[in-house]
Amino acid sequence: MSTDTAQTGAGTVFPPKPKRSEGQWALGETTPLTPNEKWKAEEGGLAVRERIDAYARGGFASIPGDDLRGRMRWWGLYTQRKPGIHGGRTASLEPHELDDEYFMLRVRTDGGAVDLNQLRTLADLSTRYARDTADVTDRQNIQYHWIRIEDMPEIWSRLGDAGLITTDACGDTPRVILGSPVAGVAADEIIDGTPALLKIRELFVGDEELQNLPRKFKTAISGNPSQDVAHEIHDIAFVGVNHPEHGPGFDLWVGGGLSTNPMLAKRLGAWVPLDEVHEVWHGVIKIFRDYGYRRLRNRARLKFLMADWGPEVFREVLEQEYLGRKLIDGPAPELPAGSRHDHVGVHRQKNGKFYVGITPVVGRVSGTVLAKLADAAEKAGSNRLRFTPQQKIVILDVVASKVPDLLDELEEIGLSARASAFRRGTMACTGIEFCKLAITATKSTATTLVSELENRLADVPELFTLDGPSLSINMNGCPNSCARAQIADIGLKGVQLPNPADPQGETVDGFQIHLGGGLGVHAGFGRKVRGLKSTAADLPDYVERLVRRWIAQRKDDETFAA
Ligand code: SF4
Repeated sequence: MSTDTAQTGAGTVFPPKPKRSEGQWALGETTPLTPNEKWKAEEGGLAVRERIDAYARGGFASIPGDDLRGRMRWWGLYTQRKPGIHGGRTASLEPHELDDEYFMLRVRTDGGAVDLNQLRTLADLSTRYARDTADVTDRQNIQYHWIRIEDMPEIWSRLGDAGLITTDACGDTPRVILGSPVAGVAADEIIDGTPALLKIRELFVGDEELQNLPRKFKTAISGNPSQDVAHEIHDIAFVGVNHPEHGPGFDLWVGGGLSTNPMLAKRLGAWVPLDEVHEVWHGVIKIFRDYGYRRLRNRARLKFLMADWGPEVFREVLEQEYLGRKLIDGPAPELPAGSRHDHVGVHRQKNGKFYVGITPVVGRVSGTVLAKLADAAEKAGSNRLRFTPQQKIVILDVVASKVPDLLDELEEIGLSARASAFRRGTMACTGIEFCKLAITATKSTATTLVSELENRLADVPELFTLDGPSLSINMNGCPNSCARAQIADIGLKGVQLPNPADPQGETVDGFQIHLGGGLGVHAGFGRKVRGLKSTAADLPDYVERLVRRWIAQRKDDETFAA
């Protein structure tokens, strides 16, 4: 036990108490310390749903501020950014000055799993209500834009008919659960985490007891040996591992997260069997609810509590106060054999069928494309698709004889399974097009970058083969790191830079560059090189030079981070 942990005579372990009040409920500090804590205490986020019909009738202007910029998030709705506001002005404006009269809407697809009916519903809602927008996010969700409050009752009704929800899709809640996109089908799977994922969703999504967390709570579960859900950066993660005595189960990780204070999750050294995952998850999220910091929003993630307690104390509190029993000690998962975990290409399933991983550029698709994708998947005999944590899509259960035609059709609709390293490895967050926190454009900048690199580096054939070297380029429009910039080979964080052609004039989009981040074998954050910034316009030149140098100097299978 840690020396800064005290014990009572009854043997109860108390974690260390911070020097000042952090608003921890378990210590009796229940007075709300921030405006968010205040309105959450007055009325929970889910309550807003009862008022949606009235708002739909009254229109955008009828929605009061705490609902508009607060409770709506509990149902996956964010106000989107008013178009045309320069990134340099973002910080100087009040939140309401950035609000457009439209919303972003996230639909919750835990594990990224959808069937054909659900995919067609998502496609149809996009074309009817979202101006044909539909982004595959790195949280395995579909995110719409241009949603009007007037349409929400109908949208929820249609989603509900297809078994889809937006409950707890945003807000201080248990967010969508990441799962291996090839759970249950991968031939080399250690264990299928799907039953645990579904149980957590069934028991705890929308649970009134978990609607006022200090901030968001992100979960990942994967039994795939490639470790395909970025478990190190989640509040809680269950990673497939073989216990020498007990067999396949999960290694428990807690307290990871990126944003402005990135921290990797810590192993608690505990092995959790499949049928106990939901119980352990519940214990950990309740620790976050009860002991999590609520004094400052930017210190309210579980990682800050973990940084103060350490994994040893955290495990003791979990066992003694929340589970009432000891967890089984377990081994660390083996590090993945390579740096590939995106499932792009054609792969044999354990049942002899195939799954096909395809590559929308930076996750950007549309309702029109999703409808065509549904038709192509149906023709190939599939009724199951998964969105991936890399903003890609996997089609499951394709018989061998249908694969060639499917690949041709996918190519025609712009969803290649034979992608370049750039197309495959580039992710981008929402950026200034719709996000109120953004400083720069991302989706369009990253799309241009991918196509420029494909043209400029066409003379490097290994960058165009599926088993060639992998390269991750993650682009964020601000320091919040929704697209995981710190753990990319090349991480790009949006900044405004002087215009080289007019230094006294208006600033231009640019990026602070972080190099050499990664997860798995090379887990660590990219190095921020002082002064290493590029304007968006110069980015293709910079990345081309960098990639050429890396390819020229690379030995054997050396990765970028190595
Ligand atoms: Fe918005 Fe910043 Fe997140 Fe990008 S990283 S989606 S700009 S908050």
